[in-house]
Amino acid sequence: METIIEPFKIKMTEPIKFTSRQQRENIIKEAHFNLFQVAAENVTIDLLTDSGTSAMSSEQWASMLRADESYAGSASWYHLKNIIGNMTGMPNILPTHQGRASERILFSLIGGKDKIIPNNNHFDTTRANIEFTGAKAVDLVVDQAYEPDQAFPFKGNLDPQKLKSLIREVGAEHIPLCMITITNNSIGGQPVSLSNIKEIKDICQKHNIPLFIDAARFAENAYFIKQREKEYAHLSVGEIVRQIFDLTDGATISAKKDGLVNTGGLLLLRDNELAKRAINLLILTEGFTTYGGLTGRDLEAMAEGFLEAVNEDYLRYRIRSVDYLAEKLLRANIPIVRPTGGHAVYIDAKSFCPHISPNLFPGQAIVCALYRVAGVRATELGSVMFGKDGGDLSQKNCHHPSHKMELVRLAIPRRVYTQSHIDYVVEALIEIYKDRDKLKGLRIIEEPSILRHFSLKFAEV
Ligand SMILES: *Cc1c(COP(=O)(O)O)cnc(C)c1O
Repeated sequence: METIIEPFKIKMTEPIKFTSRQQRENIIKEAHFNLFQVAAENVTIDLLTDSGTSAMSSEQWASMLRADESYAGSASWYHLKNIIGNMTGMPNILPTHQGRASERILFSLIGGKDKIIPNNNHFDTTRANIEFTGAKAVDLVVDQAYEPDQAFPFKGNLDPQKLKSLIREVGAEHIPLCMITITNNSIGGQPVSLSNIKEIKDICQKHNIPLFIDAARFAENAYFIKQREKEYAHLSVGEIVRQIFDLTDGATISAKKDGLVNTGGLLLLRDNELAKRAINLLILTEGFTTYGGLTGRDLEAMAEGFLEAVNEDYLRYRIRSVDYLAEKLLRANIPIVRPTGGHAVYIDAKSFCPHISPNLFPGQAIVCALYRVAGVRATELGSVMFGKDGGDLSQKNCHHPSHKMELVRLAIPRRVYTQSHIDYVVEALIEIYKDRDKLKGLRIIEEPSILRHFSLKFAEV
């Protein structure tokens, strides 16, 4: 059979609230054209993020009832530790409440002034946690990443030549570790090849620089390796995952993405001495080493979630369902970033509405139209999100690669929406694209000093 179907059936449903066009006109005006200010119950299809929005399986819910809530040494902790240990081979596994807590602990220990941390592309919270210690975060992704219509299979790769130049320029002694983010979230969920990870590992080893991965979407990345990198096509996703981790000295993981849970994180460390110091910080702010700020229920859901994340029937459906949306948009000539990433489809807003200049936020105009027409919520990743007047964290985001582009992200929550939901989104976008000349730009009428995109107020021009 050619049709790839959802590898699950639905046992529990959550109603979607429908709103009329007139209601949505009122809601978006009251929200000052900022979708972060719209209540979730007024959203029909929510594609704001894939983070913490996964649907859990019956096995995950069942495991939560079985969970052990002991303070120290709970059975649920050992369950999680065994599963992650077998999957990654890492000797030290620390639970945290989410990815950024792992980042804060790691960079508090190895960051600091005069330190430089390279990555293919740092995720926002990673950059912020590095820079908070006084260290510098540097992005060394391959140049193909910034060409939206170039269908290069591993746009997420870290450029080996750029890494060598950086080491030559600043000296290996100033680089406490090198990171690789899989998949590369900031440039569109683009994968990193296994041969690239091997090449970067060789360079790091030569200079005694530990290699870490930001593994929020490690399973989706492993599936892309199996699909797109011929020499590894014969391996199972589990074997590819193990090869990736075997090349590394540690990892920070947000379990809110591939981990298929609503919150949770991990810090994995190969070095026992570093792990001892990390555990001290963990106990200080997160919790004891066998729960790290999570309940036994959370630990159980995570254990089962990580097992399901590497299931190849699930991954085939997951990657195909995102590509299905992309294919339909391409067929309607709607400009999107190619190739399709693992967790989202990105619309190229500059090509979609060339009549709106970046200072009038073409991406935000599309986001508003999607809500008006269909009650669909997406995110702008362009001059609104990364504009240079944002101050604080937004200021740091000026280095953000997406700032070179004006994008709208349609992030797909895992196991939440069916094919007809996606068809509905496509229909809305086709309607908007037909009338794209009528889209209006926006101007900012009120701007907070920090993290401006959450509470900016706009007016239509
Ligand atoms: C989400 C994410 C993080 C941060 O994780 P949180 O769980 O949101 O704190 C770090 N890196 C990448 C690549 C992410 O996608």
